[in-house]
Amino acid sequence: MSFDFDLFVIGAGSGGVRAARFAAGFGARVAVAESRYLGGTCVNVGCVPKKMLVYGAHYSEDLEQAHAYGWTAGAPTFDWPTLIAHKNTEIAHLNDVYRLLLTQSDVELFETHARIVDPHTVEVNGERISAEHILIATGTWPSVPDIPGKELAVTSNEAFFLKTLPRRAVVIGGGYIAVEFASIFNGLGAETTQLYRGELFLRGFDRGIREHLRDELVKKGLDLRFKTNITRIDKQADGSLSLTLEDGSLLETDLVMFATGRQAKLEDLGLENTGVTLDERGFIKVDDNYVTTEPSILALGDVIGRVQLTPVATAEGMAIARRLFRPAEYRPVDYRLIPTAVFSLPTIGTVGLTEDQALLAGHNITVFESRFGTLKLALTESKEKTLMRLIVDADTDKVLGVHMVGADAGEIIQGMAVALKAGATKRIFDDTIGIHPTSAEEFVTMRTALPA
Ligand code: NDP
Repeated sequence: MSFDFDLFVIGAGSGGVRAARFAAGFGARVAVAESRYLGGTCVNVGCVPKKMLVYGAHYSEDLEQAHAYGWTAGAPTFDWPTLIAHKNTEIAHLNDVYRLLLTQSDVELFETHARIVDPHTVEVNGERISAEHILIATGTWPSVPDIPGKELAVTSNEAFFLKTLPRRAVVIGGGYIAVEFASIFNGLGAETTQLYRGELFLRGFDRGIREHLRDELVKKGLDLRFKTNITRIDKQADGSLSLTLEDGSLLETDLVMFATGRQAKLEDLGLENTGVTLDERGFIKVDDNYVTTEPSILALGDVIGRVQLTPVATAEGMAIARRLFRPAEYRPVDYRLIPTAVFSLPTIGTVGLTEDQALLAGHNITVFESRFGTLKLALTESKEKTLMRLIVDADTDKVLGVHMVGADAGEIIQGMAVALKAGATKRIFDDTIGIHPTSAEEFVTMRTALPA
């Protein structure tokens, strides 16, 4: 049977675009449909604009600390609309770049909604298009708890486009997005409160790192409240919001942002016309080759709920394109040792096992730790401390995990991830000459283990 396309990708986010471009590069006839924005969550309402806001928030500290280096300027003021306008211009430029990337790769682009009507057919603009393979790369969408007044709150989707910076903000959640936005609002000068239902935020990260970040954020004036949740939101006569907390107390604010997780984006996708099934968390079920329970339909990235990170989605996209259209070059995605950063202020960078995970996996471990004020801050009044931790297997000397909270943690940990992938031992770390003076050199000069 002949099809209009070899691959029809639904969703032009990081993973979908990568799969489409690679497949087209291998000679496949490829189409992509995107109904919202080219580049998906990461480019439009995720990684990229988030990092811009984080940079914006960091300037408040930079300006303050510049005095210690002899700089004098007028009293700094911050204008949120300027930051958002510049961010929007850059994102619009990136949308154009994505459009060009696709069209120059000979991918046919439909900037409209696509709906699956049978396992080999997609409907776009009222037209039916057939494809040998359909790839669902529709990503996720913020999920908000069903409480009275939830419509008065925003999610990250809206937070990127607020008209004004609120005087007071409450961020709910304890994951990446909550922690990052709490730092953004706090850094930009809003009186910020973060509420998290558990005993300590960033569940799954190294405990030492979570505790250190907690302490640093409190030092920066963030009102962090754990074991707290809200039960309702009410609008006051003056336009402000009143939050009722679980213990019955009230909290007044001007903005509530839910960062309470994300769910698979499947609405009006036509899955009922296929044999595609979902897992118990509502993400699309796939096998090791990203094939759904409908053999001609694949899925990747956030919508399969495995590891919701852009570089993972792009790796999955490349793996799919290679397996289908250039099998000789196929390599499965290696999900081990995925480095990641939380762009809070200060930033977390991490790769490998946490202390608890290493113990749980049965390793006999030694932990090395360094806590210090950076040279850059020595002249300033900042009390910020950087924390670095190495989790080492005491029997094999292999470094199992590298964790950091501090400036440039994301930049530093990327290199550490290469070392861990190569199987580096603590001895290799010790034998590596440091770059002086840097913070990163601490990772190769840790000599004394923490007491067991
Ligand atoms: P996460 O799943 O990471 O965190 C959700 C948070 O909300 C958790 O702390 C969770 O608590 C809490 N929560 C869930 N439901 C409720 C509820 N009903 N009431 C109160 N709290 C609730 O989701 P995010 O939205 O932060 O991020 C989604 C994914 O996006 C991340 O997992 C990450 O993979 C990716 N991401 C990556 C970034 C990066 O690389 N820097 C940046 C942003 C996002 P509990 O812990 O108790 O479950």
